[in-house]
Amino acid sequence: MSDFFKGVRKHIDKLDATHLREQFERVTDALERSETLIHALKEGLVRLDKHGIVVQSNPAARQILGMPPEDILPTLSLPLGKSSKREISLTYPDPRRLELQTIPFDDETIVYVRDITAERARTEEELRAGATRAVCDLAAGVAHEIGNPLNALALNIQMLERDPSDRESLAICKSQIKRLDGIIRDFLAALRPSRPNLAPGSLADPLRDCLATLRAQFEERRIHVTLDVPSSLPSVALDRAQMVQVFFNILKNALEAMRDGGAIAMSISSDDDTVSVKIADSGEGMPPERLAHLFEPYRTSKANGTGLGLMITKRIVGDHGGTIDVESEVGHGTVFTIRLPRLERRIRELK
Ligand code: ADP
Ligand code: MG
Repeated sequence: MSDFFKGVRKHIDKLDATHLREQFERVTDALERSETLIHALKEGLVRLDKHGIVVQSNPAARQILGMPPEDILPTLSLPLGKSSKREISLTYPDPRRLELQTIPFDDETIVYVRDITAERARTEEELRAGATRAVCDLAAGVAHEIGNPLNALALNIQMLERDPSDRESLAICKSQIKRLDGIIRDFLAALRPSRPNLAPGSLADPLRDCLATLRAQFEERRIHVTLDVPSSLPSVALDRAQMVQVFFNILKNALEAMRDGGAIAMSISSDDDTVSVKIADSGEGMPPERLAHLFEPYRTSKANGTGLGLMITKRIVGDHGGTIDVESEVGHGTVFTIRLPRLERRIRELK
């Protein structure tokens, strides 16, 4: 509230009718101005009360959503009273991509609606520019990495020249060649994302694979991890290795968001259309301004972060035909939800 309003409120008992009228006019004037402003915005703004009922919206919200906000917002089960960000696709009146951000405001929730169809195309451009920088960094890394195996190879080939029956040197040569192969493969994977190699499977498998590799780190940091998987889970089409990467990026961030122990609760569930994985951490959470730029490349709050993890994560989930949502509260934690289409559903769509 502005100082002016605070002043009026403080002295209201002492104001006579003339002064009251004067101040009242200033208040209505200020209200009118902010209404004009909200009306003129090209972004959609919607106010929800604590039950999720639309109490106010601007024309842009209606225009971007393509229908009255009160018709569509209640069907999206947006988190009330929390910061969150999600993308949705709409097909009517024409296909487009929207971003919905919620911002808690007293006991209400403000929903900020943007059409990001065009921006999406631009981000791809930026990525290509940023990729040049990333390639240089990666190339420097590779040059450094291949030094040791090449030295080892040279040395052991010399030994073999002296004694061709030296089995030990031969084995070392073989293993060093394997290592070189691995380094180059990783480099290429980072350089150009591969299309997922989809096969029917359970989302629980890559999640468990990933937990196994991180277990020691969780224990060391005293992070309590739980995983809730229903006894029967519909299949999805997935690239197991790529989904391991997705869960690894999210769990690693969760780990890094916790200073002194904490909890990560994971659960998998399904509905008629999708299988979803929820990963909730009790870490530091994110303020709305950080959430606003989440999933964009090179946005990092860490001294040695790359700001590429979530971008890659989102791309992989997108390549699987899925979506990723996030909800976060500063000081309370963050929840990521990944949804992939059920296999039968996907097959029906492809027909
Ligand atoms: P990096 O981890 O290299 O910084 P990411 O793309 O993985 O890059 O994450 C980008 C940023 O998003 C992080 O720097 C952090 O500020 C924020 N972030 C991601 N996950 C979480 C989380 N679980 N809790 C709090 N902040 C997070
Ligand atoms: Mg990360």
